[in-house]
Amino acid sequence: MIFLKTEDEIELLRQANLLVGRTLAELAKIIKPGVTTLELDKVAEEFIRDHGAIPTFKGFPNPYGGPFPASICASVNDVVVHGIPNEVPLKDGDIVSIDCGTKLNGFCGDSCYTFLVGEVSEEVKQLCKTTKEALYLGIEQAVVGRRLGDISYAVENHCTSHSYGVVREFVGHGVGRDMHEDPQVPNYGKRGSGPLLKKGLCIAIEPMITLGSRQIFMESDRWTVKTRDGKAAAHYEHSIAVRQGKADILSSFEEIEKVLSDKAI
Ligand code: MG
Ligand code: MG
Repeated sequence: MIFLKTEDEIELLRQANLLVGRTLAELAKIIKPGVTTLELDKVAEEFIRDHGAIPTFKGFPNPYGGPFPASICASVNDVVVHGIPNEVPLKDGDIVSIDCGTKLNGFCGDSCYTFLVGEVSEEVKQLCKTTKEALYLGIEQAVVGRRLGDISYAVENHCTSHSYGVVREFVGHGVGRDMHEDPQVPNYGKRGSGPLLKKGLCIAIEPMITLGSRQIFMESDRWTVKTRDGKAAAHYEHSIAVRQGKADILSSFEEIEKVLSDKAI
């Protein structure tokens, strides 16, 4: 069941999503070689709770195992999604995707950004840049009158034109009172297919893109998803509201990229 949102509900979604952006900006300030993802998680959880919200990832149920133990997913290098924060220090040349969710006044924020740690290879930087471009190309399609498949196709086409892998097992989703609502928003698909996009449809668009093959596997912790070939993966996510003419981006990378300044890609 797809729930279209009222203007009031969209504003509540925006507040929850802007808090995610501000949380990720706090992490941007401290991401560097030597910091652990567990330290990042502590900062994120405290920041979210200090602002009257709940970290939605913490305790998130898993049909295959235990609930998620942290407030962020921290996915380093070949980890595609759902990396569990740990005590391994980040090192020069790593990339880390930080996915974060909040619940504020009953509505959910969900956004993800891939950070470069120190000096990252040109090849991996290009992967990140292309994944972020694909996210915005998908968002361009999220307007009244288009179909869901137009978003999926735009993301896929941009990434496959660079010979990257497009992960299929995990997808974007509707977002609202629940973090994961209908419809699913795949990062691959056919133009002109799928549900018609209507005003008030709020969705998270989140390309998960690999440098090599799109084949993935799940670690024995039943959360961590990695590329089979061990090559890097990038992940960017915005929550948006469909509108006439131009999508309304509810989350924001502005604060993050202000912190990164000339290092932002
Ligand atoms: Mg997310
Ligand atoms: Mg999401």
